[in-house]
Amino acid sequence: TPVPPRPLRSVPDSAADPHAVLSEAVTAPLAGGGEIGYAALDYAASAPVLRRVWDEVAAYAPYYGSVHRGTGHLSRLSTELFERARETVAAFLGCRADDRLLFTRSTTDSLNLLAAALPAGTRVFVFETEHHAALLPWAHHGHRVHHLPAPTAPEEAVRVAEEALAGAPEGPKLLCVTGASNVTGELWPVRRLAAAAHRHGARIVLDAAQLVPHREVNVGELGVDWVAFSGHKLYAPFGAGVLAGRADWLDAAEPYLAGGGATRVVARDGDGGLRVSWAEGEARHEAGSPNVVGALAVAAACRALTDGGGYPALRAREAELLTRLRTGLAALPAVTELSLFGAESERVAVVSFTVDGWESGELATVLSERYGIGVRSGMFCAQPLVRRLLDADGDSEDCGGTLRALRASFGAGTPGEHVDRLI
Ligand code: PLP
Repeated sequence: TPVPPRPLRSVPDSAADPHAVLSEAVTAPLAGGGEIGYAALDYAASAPVLRRVWDEVAAYAPYYGSVHRGTGHLSRLSTELFERARETVAAFLGCRADDRLLFTRSTTDSLNLLAAALPAGTRVFVFETEHHAALLPWAHHGHRVHHLPAPTAPEEAVRVAEEALAGAPEGPKLLCVTGASNVTGELWPVRRLAAAAHRHGARIVLDAAQLVPHREVNVGELGVDWVAFSGHKLYAPFGAGVLAGRADWLDAAEPYLAGGGATRVVARDGDGGLRVSWAEGEARHEAGSPNVVGALAVAAACRALTDGGGYPALRAREAELLTRLRTGLAALPAVTELSLFGAESERVAVVSFTVDGWESGELATVLSERYGIGVRSGMFCAQPLVRRLLDADGDSEDCGGTLRALRASFGAGTPGEHVDRLI
């Protein structure tokens, strides 16, 4: 039966929110006037763009010019802004002086780039609980993959990784791990996993797609070798991502894409073919005209989160709303929250759950059409993890109606009313 649409409510005045800077910045551009009735609770998929980010990009628009190519004024200006954006993001991530920071399209692109750059014979260790973007690129690029079983506690994750790495033969090894699960929001013990990897001569790449929108990520402090994230989950528009970390394997690898910008010399060789020498540094893996607007937007989002106590304010606000959401859901007998590490585990503002008697896609549609609430339903691009959490085997594509969950996720600018409405 079609559900009659209900009028959308507007959010309370964002000025009343102690985190008004981020709050107003988020809600205003969506509504075109500071009011938004739709409860967008799908930040883990893509977060709304901060107004400050749009403003910075708009301010740049009249000065468009192709980077690293021309000597014209606009070209030079764009190049400088692009390179400054790189410096901003590198500082935001606490990169080491000799790290590389590459602008990519997304986390998926970043991890595929790294997979393409790994030395031949690298063994990759990855938990089966990862997002497909972190689970699949390694075998796709021809590496030997060791799938680590889902742990039930952070300590177990460290033990499992340590044992697997200790038993691996000599040769290059990489551990790939997420910072925060896109399904349960649970935090993974990154620092301890990095130490374990290094104890066994392995390197580690951090999938920070869900961590960086909620917590400061410092590559040096965490001791990770590489980090990847997406701008569109960090309050910047779609189409720009980052891979940052150790230079040596990246510099030694063939360019990720062949084309202009990644070359130093292209000349005919004596046999009618071409002699190509590739660029060094970041340019080697950034062939083609880069997404300058995306890079500036990511840098602007990084500044927005670090200026004026952005992260601590966001974290405090999210913690309050997360408790409100989880307490509210826990009081509903039909609702079961999904968790790998247990209800008490530390997590970011991402909560997945099932509702007895409801197929998640249908419920998500009702929530949207009747209540103006946008949540995600399905398997969240982490099928092995969701199957495990739902205690289900099988490999059907949509996993049948019951094998699915709903996910609510939020962040800067989310009013309490959105959470209350969902409950
Ligand atoms: N890793 C995690 C943990 C994610 O949640 C996502 C996206 O949901 C990705 C990787 C892939 O990000 P993107 O789709 O921006 O490449």
